[in-house]
Amino acid sequence: MVTKIDYDKYLASKTAELIRENFPEKGITNILIVKWSTKKSKRILGHIKSFKDINFGSIIEINPLLKDLFVPQYVLDYVLMHELTHYFQGFGSNHERKHKYPHKGGIVEKELARHGWEEITQKSEKWIKENWKNLICKKTN
Ligand SMILES: [Zn+2]
Repeated sequence: MVTKIDYDKYLASKTAELIRENFPEKGITNILIVKWSTKKSKRILGHIKSFKDINFGSIIEINPLLKDLFVPQYVLDYVLMHELTHYFQGFGSNHERKHKYPHKGGIVEKELARHGWEEITQKSEKWIKENWKNLICKKTN
């Protein structure tokens, strides 16, 4: 049996859950929009940028190629969690920024590990490395 997933609903409820469970000490300090991107990027799984300006809002866009039953749920959750980490580290948001660059020094991985996401991170990176190319071929050809 193939279960159909309401991906819009999933993105909204998962975002709320991840924030609640992993960043309870932090707050949503501007308008935060999390949505599926309209572009099927071949290499960007997700990104965050300011919406109008950072004090007004932030927008996280997730690659719609991840809306596929072939993609494990933990990979989608991992991509979302990665972008939320940027948000709370002040990249594309108005949170205090303690680092100069978003990826240098493995600051995202360190934050994910702090929340117990070490294993999911490794598992997800492995899955992406092994399967992303196939997914792109399947969806864009
Ligand atoms: Zn990133």
